[in-house]
Amino acid sequence: MKRPSKPLYNSASVPEKDCIFCKIVAGKLPSYRVYEDANHVAFLDINPFSKGHTLVCPKRHGETLWDMDEKEIADVFMVASKVSTAIVPAMNADGFRLMQNNGEAANQAVAHIHVHVIPSKLEEKGKFGRIKLTEDEMAGVAEAIRKEVAKLG
Ligand code: AMP
Ligand code: ZN
Repeated sequence: MKRPSKPLYNSASVPEKDCIFCKIVAGKLPSYRVYEDANHVAFLDINPFSKGHTLVCPKRHGETLWDMDEKEIADVFMVASKVSTAIVPAMNADGFRLMQNNGEAANQAVAHIHVHVIPSKLEEKGKFGRIKLTEDEMAGVAEAIRKEVAKLG
């Protein structure tokens, strides 16, 4: 795939050694981890848009989709789709959004590729904003998702 020569500007850009999502992947920073495979980790967003809002990260550091090859891009969206089939029933949700931001202009706040999986309920249709959950609620959400993940093939 040919990429434009002008890179995407991102003020959140940091050297790989300082990347918070690399630290979460390596278990050096805490997270509510709900899924892991050879090349990906998924954990709860600490400032979620809805109960169950999860981030799917490739383990390999890269800032945007332009830093991944086509298979890596396909794989991270495949995993996002897969974990959605655990998150939606775990949260008793009715649908879900996928979101993936690239660059400052697109509001990317953490410069390590991630796909947001955001479950949505019919009764909350049209409402979209950050919510606040207690640590106990976050732990409960993670546990419920893990139980559904365990049923995945
Ligand atoms: P983006 O705007 O796509 O870069 O989204 C970054 C997301 O990461 C935001 O929704 C933040 O709430 C979330 N976030 C930032 N730091 C952490 C962290 N330590 N653990 C979990 N989620 C985080
Ligand atoms: Zn990283």
